[in-house]
Amino acid sequence: MAAKKTPERRVIRASVKTLSRATAKPAAAKRAPAKKSRPQRRPRLDPAQVAVTYDKLRARHSDAHCELNHKSAFQLILATVLSAQSTDVMVNKITPELFERWPTPMALANSEPSQVELVLSKVGMYRQKTRNVIGLCQRLLTEHGGEVPRTLDELIRLPGVGRKTANVVLGVAFGTPEGVVVDTHVQRISQRLGWTKQREPADIERDLMALFPARDWDMLSHTLIFHGRRICAARKPACAACPVNAECPSAFRAENVGRKAATNRARP
Ligand code: SF4
Repeated sequence: MAAKKTPERRVIRASVKTLSRATAKPAAAKRAPAKKSRPQRRPRLDPAQVAVTYDKLRARHSDAHCELNHKSAFQLILATVLSAQSTDVMVNKITPELFERWPTPMALANSEPSQVELVLSKVGMYRQKTRNVIGLCQRLLTEHGGEVPRTLDELIRLPGVGRKTANVVLGVAFGTPEGVVVDTHVQRISQRLGWTKQREPADIERDLMALFPARDWDMLSHTLIFHGRRICAARKPACAACPVNAECPSAFRAENVGRKAATNRARP
């Protein structure tokens, strides 16, 4: 038997209709493709000019190096895995205890996870990182004879190791980088210098690999990281003190320094 439409039922149905209209996404929005940055064309650059800029940066940051403290490829890969979403300074504070208590892949592979978590608890995502470093050591033992592998393909199969970590290990520990490490500093400065128009690290890395010979890949990223930490900061780059402000297309630009600051600043 059909239910009788009482005034209360009508009110409820009307409210449901209103609610579903309010929460429904517009048809166009449903059809909109997921946001994805389009690959941009590689900028046309004068290689000689790029080399001049790079040489100036190298001269300014001649002390550029990997700032993660380590004495072996094994220590470096652990430190680099721990450095994701954390600072090198923080990682350097906790790795002495980690390396002392579990000095070998065997020791860490057989460790008690709760004990490792206690040591790593000051870095972000320490539970996941604990699982990764223990899993990584187990794989070093079962698949690589307890040694850190020397190829990108083998490295990126290890737990917690992506392309960036793999290239840090290859470049710093073995001197055989297979790409350029693109962190937030390398990304920002490459874009500001006009060396890339890309947004995704993998695309930026491709542009940099095309622009520089393989022998420069490792030092290129250290140099840009030092430049980012010391001069070309994300919010307020010190363009006046920058050795490449004559070459940089972004020098003293409003979007770098904020409108208020830019209006009072004249190019030297
Ligand atoms: S001139 Fe300014 S924006 Fe360009 S690299 Fe130097 S500090 Fe960065």
